[in-house]
Amino acid sequence: MASEQIIAIFTTMNHIHHNYSLKALNSFGLDARAASYANPADKESLITLLEEAHREQLPLLILGEGSNILFKNNFQGLVIQPGMKGIDVVKENNEEVVVKVGASENWDRWVSYAIEKGWYGLENLSLIPGSVGSAPVQNIGAYGVEMKDHFEWLETYDIQMKQQVRLDFNACRFGYRSSIFKGEAKGRYIITHVAFRLDKKARLNLDYGNIKDVFSLANGSTPLDLRNVIINIRESKLPDPAQFGNAGSFFKNSMVDRTVFNCIRVEYPEVPFYPNDGNQMKIPAAWLIEKSGWKGKRVGNVGTWPAQPLVIVNYGGASGQEIYDFSENILQDVESTFSVSLEREVNVI
Ligand SMILES: Cc1cc2nc3c(=O)[nH]c(=O)nc-3n(C[C@H](O)[C@H](O)[C@H](O)COP(=O)(O)OP(=O)(O)OC[C@H]3O[C@@H](n4cnc5c(N)ncnc54)[C@H](O)[C@@H]3O)c2cc1C
Repeated sequence: MASEQIIAIFTTMNHIHHNYSLKALNSFGLDARAASYANPADKESLITLLEEAHREQLPLLILGEGSNILFKNNFQGLVIQPGMKGIDVVKENNEEVVVKVGASENWDRWVSYAIEKGWYGLENLSLIPGSVGSAPVQNIGAYGVEMKDHFEWLETYDIQMKQQVRLDFNACRFGYRSSIFKGEAKGRYIITHVAFRLDKKARLNLDYGNIKDVFSLANGSTPLDLRNVIINIRESKLPDPAQFGNAGSFFKNSMVDRTVFNCIRVEYPEVPFYPNDGNQMKIPAAWLIEKSGWKGKRVGNVGTWPAQPLVIVNYGGASGQEIYDFSENILQDVESTFSVSLEREVNVI
C-alpha cells in the first residue's frame, strides 16, 4: 500500500502521526521514517488502533525505545509505540513483592526505583537501555542475571486471536537472548505490562567474571553499591548511544557443536568457552570477531567499538544499509575462518 493511501486512511484519527521521523527513536540515530506512528497510552486506544490497522491490512511494527533495532529502510506501515505507564504492587509478603510495570516505563529507571523501594534482584541489569515492555522480548541479560530470573507474568494483546492475554513464565519460553516474542510468535503479541517477583532481602549476585573483586575494591555492601559498580563497568566498556549510535551487542554469543569446537581448539588452544547444555559449547562472539580481524575495524562511518568488537557503531552519517552490509561482512569472515554462523541479536527492519 502506498504511503499516501495510509495517510489518507488515518487523517480522521487525531493521534496518528504521518511520515514520522524515527531518528530520536532508535539508538543507531538513523533517520528512518514511519509511514504512520502512534503512541497509545492505554489498552483501549491500542485495541482501536489495531482494529483500524487490521481493516486496512497495514504492516505493523511495535517499538520500545529502539535500542535493539536496525532500520535498513523506512517502515511502510504503522509503528506502534506502547505508552502504558505505571508501577503497581500486586502481591506482597515479608519476603517478596510482585510488581506490575507498564510497558513504556524506562528499564533503568524501573531498576533504580525498585532498589530505592527495597525490592531487589535486578541490580545486575542496571543501565541496559530500553523499555520494560521490550525486556522479555530477548530476555535481557547482563553480568550473570537474566530478566527471566525475576519474571512473574506479562499482559499482552494477542493480535492473532484479537484478545488480551496473560502469559506466564512457561508460555514465554525464555532462553539466551530469546523468547517466543523473538521466535515463533514474532509480531503476534504486544506486551502492555510486565510483572516481576523481587526479594525484600538483598541477595547480591557477584558470581559473574570479576564482579566480586571490583565490588570489594569499591567497598561495596548494598544493592545500590552493586548497581553503581555495574554502571561504572558498563560506562567504561560500552559506547554511549547519545555520542556514538549503536545497539549494544550486535551478535549473540555462538553455540557450537562439540566437534566444531574441537576443530577450532586444535588451531586456537586459547579459545574461550563455556560448556552449554547437551553437546554444545558457547564461544564468545567477540573473540570470533576479533580473531577474524574485525576488532576496531572501521569502514567509512561504520566500525566495531575498539574496546568491545561485538558492538557495531555508527560514527555519524552511516545509513542502515551500510551498517547491515558491515555486519554481513563480519558474518561471512567468521563463517569462513571458523565455520561458525554468527546470529544477529539486533532486530533488522
Ligand atoms: C549501549 C547498549 C547496551 C546494551 N546492553 C544490553 C545488555 O547488556 N543486555 C541485553 O540483553 N541487551 C542489551 N542491549 C539491547 C537493548 O537494550 C535491549 O534489547 C532492550 O530490551 C531493547 O529495548 P527497547 O525498548 O529499546 O526495544 P526496541 O529496540 O524498541 O525493540 C526490540 C524488539 O522488541 C520488540 N518490542 C518492543 N516493545 C515491544 C512490546 N511492548 N511488545 C512486543 N514487542 C515489543 C520490537 O518489535 C523489537 O523486535 C543494549 C543496547 C545498547 C544500545
